Amino acid sequence: MLQTAAVSRPAITLSDGQSMPQVGLGVWQTPADATASVVKAAIEAGYRSIDTAAAYENEAGVGEGARASGVAREEIFITTKLRSRDHGYDAALRAFDKSLKRLGVDYVDLFLIHWPAPRQDRYIDAWRALVRLQEEGRARSIGVSNFMVEHLRRIIGETGVIPVVNQIELHPKFQQTDLRAFHAGQGIVTEAWSPLGQGALLKHPVIARIAARHGRTPAQAIIRWHVEQRLVVIPKSANPERIAENFEVFDFRLDDEDMSAIAALDDPMGRMGPDPISFG
Ligand code: NAD
Repeated sequence: MLQTAAVSRPAITLSDGQSMPQVGLGVWQTPADATASVVKAAIEAGYRSIDTAAAYENEAGVGEGARASGVAREEIFITTKLRSRDHGYDAALRAFDKSLKRLGVDYVDLFLIHWPAPRQDRYIDAWRALVRLQEEGRARSIGVSNFMVEHLRRIIGETGVIPVVNQIELHPKFQQTDLRAFHAGQGIVTEAWSPLGQGALLKHPVIARIAARHGRTPAQAIIRWHVEQRLVVIPKSANPERIAENFEVFDFRLDDEDMSAIAALDDPMGRMGPDPISFG
């Protein structure tokens, strides 16, 4: 369900009733010592959602930047993620405590299992820990990342608790239509990582043509494509001008012709990141 909380800042309502900003800032590969200033710049540009992870080793900078912005904690949606080596019930609880400490907060808005790591086969116990953290109010919402249909079916079947979000690789070259259809049937919000194909799609001629037609940049055209489809999207940049540019996507629309041209770019082999079956 799409809500327009403010004209320039749409949000998506999760199945647990929480509201999540539709466009957030990703900070994977943002150096730890630059993260606070990057996050502060993003919040000043209008962002209210930051996506980090224990594995990014910059949670402290996220907390510091959020505090330095002067915007109230409850107005900023902070996501962090559980590393695969911390799967298991007790290990997940301990890892969560450490994330909170590094962030300098007493709750996160969204806590995700970063990868299913099926070879370890401990993601069910990790999920039970997340359920407890949500009951305690320390993770307001809980979800997963990089889960495929088989992993989602298992956690739902074994615990009865449906994740509110699955954060997955999703960009014009890898559109994940089957997984998204499964999400829709379960009320799971799809959150797109590497939305710009890690920058590789910005020079694609179809994207460049669509961007030029609208007098926009390729990054804005791609992020708008995500927004049109009611996805949550978390482009990454450490450059304040690009950070601002990537958020200026709420005052134009792509038309049917643009959407069909981008739909045609989908490629089953278009994955750029790791395959969740074998990773972790
Ligand atoms: P992305 O698709 O957001 O691309 C980022 C790159 O695009 C930047 O490094 C920059 O080079 C370029 N870029 C960004 N804005 C630009 C602009 N306006 N003009 C020109 N170039 C621009 O890639 P990403 O970092 O892989 O993904 C975004 C976020 O998704 C990450 O930071 C992270 O938070 C999340 N993520 C999650 C997972 C996961 O396993 N859950 C995996 C990868 C990424």
